[in-house]
Amino acid sequence: MEYQLIDGKATASAIKQSIAEEVKTIVAAGGRQPHLAAILVGHDGGSETYVKNKVIACEQCGFKSTLMRYEADVTEEELLACVDKLNKDEDVDGFIVQLPLPKHIDEQKIIMAIDYRKDVDGFHPINVGRMSIGLPCFISATPLGILTLLQHYHIETSGKKCVILGRSNIVGKPMAQLMMQKQYGDATVTVCHSHSKDLKKECQEADIIIAAIGRPDFVTADMVKKGAVVIDVGTTRVPDPTRKSGFRLNGDVKFDEVAPLCSYITPVPGGVGPMTICSLMKNTLAAGKKEYYK
Ligand code: NAP
Repeated sequence: MEYQLIDGKATASAIKQSIAEEVKTIVAAGGRQPHLAAILVGHDGGSETYVKNKVIACEQCGFKSTLMRYEADVTEEELLACVDKLNKDEDVDGFIVQLPLPKHIDEQKIIMAIDYRKDVDGFHPINVGRMSIGLPCFISATPLGILTLLQHYHIETSGKKCVILGRSNIVGKPMAQLMMQKQYGDATVTVCHSHSKDLKKECQEADIIIAAIGRPDFVTADMVKKGAVVIDVGTTRVPDPTRKSGFRLNGDVKFDEVAPLCSYITPVPGGVGPMTICSLMKNTLAAGKKEYYK
């Protein structure tokens, strides 16, 4: 079967270009550039790369960006003080705290301290709650990026059986909410996790599989029905001596054997990853325009 590769890189690039054009129009009319701030704690390789890419995306979109760095031994009080400062800074439209945080810091406490009107990651309970009942809000970037990709490729989701692997607060759960939501996915959704009894059978019946578990090559050909749409969120760093960096990013799907069965499939890298950053840019533009909250 001839499958179509879903090009997240090209889609994200086109969306960022249209955001940049809108920002130009706003600025030409005397408005402000949207301003995104990011808090980065410690020197984790993955987090450094994500934040660097977010800063680059801000430049591409014509946004102002500010990076606040802290060492891994920063105290919870210091971080809360930084969040409070950003909440009050009228020049900052939205900000993110790059996760994960060091073990001695309570992530939920930090997220709760963020003003939900500036929570462009969509992690604050007010945004999570509003999303779950279909009210305008900041939607978590990865699920929003996946939904945007499905729409961009005109992939029908209404009435389809969608299986989501993983139930994390940042990917699996919000993805399930969006896929079942009336004005969004309109799909019949099943969420699988480490306690699911017959995950393979669930996948075999799925029209759409969204894999977000962080287990390289977990989804194999025997789990996928012919013509399925497969979205691979997984990005696990696996050692690869042939690369300069010494590692490569591996998805949750065994691409070579699964792709020939699919109607559409995302690659890793170049699929969901670029769309996640692009969605953060969309949310920042919305924050700059005070689209959801005054
Ligand atoms: P997470 O918080 O670690 O959650 C993993 C989920 O997968 C959990 O719900 C867990 O079940 C489930 N799971 C793990 N092993 C399983 C197994 N063998 N069978 C069934 N379920 C299993 O992960 P996450 O933050 O959602 O991220 C998932 C993956 O996506 C990671 O590779 C991450 O790097 C990647 N990611 C990529 C992007 C991107 O932009 N491309 C963004 C975010 C995340 P339990 O709940 O039962 O423990």
